[in-house]
Amino acid sequence: MMYQEIEQAEKDLLHTYNRFPVVFDHGEGVHLYDTEGKEYLDFCAGIAVFALGYGVKEYNDALKDQVDKLIHTSNYFYNEPAIRAAALVKKYTGMDRVFFTNSGGESVEGTIKAARKYAYTRDGHSDHEIIAMEHSFHGRTMGALSVTGNAHYREPFEPLIGNIRFAEYNDLESVKAQVTDKTCAIIMETVQGEGGIFPAKPEFIQGIRKLCDEKDILLILDEIQCGMGRTGTMYAYEQYGVKPDILATAKALGCGVPIGAFAMTEKVAQMSLTAGDHGSTYGGNPLACRAVCSVYELMEKKQVLQNVNEVGVYLEQKLSELAEEYDFIEGQRGLGLMRGLVFRCPVNGILKKTLQKGLVLINAGTNIIRFVPPLVITRNDVDDMLSILRPALDERSKEQA
Ligand SMILES: *Cc1c(COP(=O)(O)O)cnc(C)c1O
Repeated sequence: MMYQEIEQAEKDLLHTYNRFPVVFDHGEGVHLYDTEGKEYLDFCAGIAVFALGYGVKEYNDALKDQVDKLIHTSNYFYNEPAIRAAALVKKYTGMDRVFFTNSGGESVEGTIKAARKYAYTRDGHSDHEIIAMEHSFHGRTMGALSVTGNAHYREPFEPLIGNIRFAEYNDLESVKAQVTDKTCAIIMETVQGEGGIFPAKPEFIQGIRKLCDEKDILLILDEIQCGMGRTGTMYAYEQYGVKPDILATAKALGCGVPIGAFAMTEKVAQMSLTAGDHGSTYGGNPLACRAVCSVYELMEKKQVLQNVNEVGVYLEQKLSELAEEYDFIEGQRGLGLMRGLVFRCPVNGILKKTLQKGLVLINAGTNIIRFVPPLVITRNDVDDMLSILRPALDERSKEQA
């Protein structure tokens, strides 16, 4: 049955994803079940989205309640979930003004527009430049793609938006070399995700903050993947003692209900997007915002940050052990429960093996296995994960020998 469904899907859907041959049906805790009832331990969480795990009663009940009340209304009116969600986003991002979007990519679009408008208001003209990072990932829409440091993703769709310059991540001098009189913003991930799980070095991000302050350049941090508690603080920048001027958040923000946001300081907001400059039909609708309220609430209630810090250290230790043990593993890196195991070979074959054995993992680039599990996993879950991953690595060793 499952394979018939997959065949049908392959006929109907555009082939933009190389999907694994599994049809997921439901989830419970940190486990997913396919349509044949097979259980999978989920260390992917829908790519850093389902942070609370599956089947959380309070979250599900909140959404059901909102479905019966009001799912959508226009942004020409107020709605209570959006008012509450905006206050929570402000509180946890440390920003002053919030705009709700429907995805990460759209949040990045918003940050670009906000930065350009700020510089336009300040200087009285447009044509400003933005500095972005090599190996970054900011999304697939045309604006977000324009600041994504991966030529393979960009090239077929050029010309993209202009005036983007690329610098090397974690290399302050290379960023300084791209600064001109026209630079209005620097955009980067606090921890690069798709590009291979690279946390910013403290001296890099602090140097960028200083550079931005000196030249009235806006620092845009994309915390779409590394935000929402994943690195052990609600937003990763908190660990560096710097604050962005504009921040993008999404993925775990609604824990699966599509919503994102970009937020900014009051100083930026005063000179940036105003009535008529930006909008979205769905952005910040009552259902999606109810999810946001529930997610932040449950993160507090379940002491998720504490768990990330505890289990994150354990996962780091276990991945380091793997790197010592297997000569085709180079090392591990990351922050909290956002980790990459770096191989000297492509990892796709290993991911197929682990999936067959009931473990969901994804890659970040060809050589890196990415660990972005639900933030509620326990040490036991890490042990269970290893009990599946190890045999797959052993098979890989034998194939190599
Ligand atoms: C996933 C991601 C995006 C894009 O988000 P979408 O919701 O897929 O549009 C942007 N930036 C980062 C860092 C991401 O991880």
